[in-house]
Amino acid sequence: MANEAIRRAEERFVPRFGRRDPPPRPAMAARAQRLMPVAQQRSLAGRYAWWVKALSLTAFAWAFLGWLNDAWLFQFDNPLWLNRYTEYVIILAFGVWRITAEKNPYTRRRLMILVGNVAVLWWLIPWAFPFIEPHIGYLAGLPAFPSLHTPGTLTFLLVLGAVFLFGRRVICGWNCPCVAVREVVGFPFRHADHVPRGQWAWRLRHLKWIWFALYLGAMWAMTRPSNNLTAGYLGFFAMVVVLPYFVTMLLSPWIGNRGYCRYLCPYGATFGLLNKVGMFRIDYHAESCIQCGKCEKVCDMGIPVWEMGAAHGGKVDTTECMGCGRCITECPSQSLTFRDVRHLPWPTLRQDRDHLLRRTDWKLPSTRWRAAGFALALSAALGGAAYYATQVGTLGELPSRLGALCGLPISSW
Ligand code: SF4
Ligand code: SF4
Ligand code: SF4
Repeated sequence: MANEAIRRAEERFVPRFGRRDPPPRPAMAARAQRLMPVAQQRSLAGRYAWWVKALSLTAFAWAFLGWLNDAWLFQFDNPLWLNRYTEYVIILAFGVWRITAEKNPYTRRRLMILVGNVAVLWWLIPWAFPFIEPHIGYLAGLPAFPSLHTPGTLTFLLVLGAVFLFGRRVICGWNCPCVAVREVVGFPFRHADHVPRGQWAWRLRHLKWIWFALYLGAMWAMTRPSNNLTAGYLGFFAMVVVLPYFVTMLLSPWIGNRGYCRYLCPYGATFGLLNKVGMFRIDYHAESCIQCGKCEKVCDMGIPVWEMGAAHGGKVDTTECMGCGRCITECPSQSLTFRDVRHLPWPTLRQDRDHLLRRTDWKLPSTRWRAAGFALALSAALGGAAYYATQVGTLGELPSRLGALCGLPISSW
């Protein structure tokens, strides 16, 4: 029996022409063993083969080229494969791959919602059924839905409210195209080989407050009547945000897949402030922690999770946490729990590992109902936009109609 097994193993090295391949060198074999198969993604990031990284960088470069073509080059009449929506097509393609490869059920569910939101809210609606959303203030241009980053729009105000109640995760974890492209395309660069860690990397997070200050200036300019000064400043602000957004994708081998979110994003900084003062945080339960350090290893934002919890009296209430939940679902002793507005009406709610993973159990009717509700909500958003754009009237009517419906003095433009 053993001889038969050895013979079969040897046959695998005999090519069709009868010549034996040399056995793999030990170092190469060991390295191959350490590589993560492309059909697997785990919370604790693995190393991937060079071609997976090359594919990922090519996709990043393609998304960048699409934006460049849409904004500056105007080649090929801006087709879908080379315009600002190309990034979302790439997210969809890689998203299907990464969702099927993901081994953490909670992360898989988050990726499904993230990719679904990007596909419907960020791509299909603005591309196929564009409409202007209600806003306050003097905006120079008409804000098309979803104008998340434009102060004064309905989306902006709703998201700020949601972040205050549920934390930065409502956008940075579950609904931001930036995090989607970095999660599903940038996954080979999650490994510690690529993600800067340690004290100096943690201190560098303060860099983003420079971009936040620039954003405050943009908030002021966006709500003023347009003139040369405000228009010039907004053009400058767009450049210092969008160029690093794409360039950091190409720098992922050196700064990790979340370099932009960690060090530069002004919107993440805004949501992070609300994280700090709002109702979201992670609770750390020192009495059960075994200090294995797993929570820190799986955190793409480089947060020293348990150490911060221990130093801050059991609270991990940093501006950096984007609520991915990896640290919680991977904590072997259930020493980490989410906390948000739901604890007001339900103080005994414990959002620990078991709770989060239970919400992904397809055998439970509650999970199926939630999934059906989400699918219904996305379909309603898409159908509503299509109906409005084709049947109800002009784009300009939407703000005034919604304003009248709510009894609010919402102006259009
Ligand atoms: S930090 Fe910025 S880019 Fe990153 S997920 Fe949040 S909003 Fe998006
Ligand atoms: S993963 Fe859990 S047990 Fe391990 S250090 Fe973090 S909080 Fe403690
Ligand atoms: S602290 Fe936990 S939930 Fe927050 S970003 Fe890190 S891994 Fe995700």
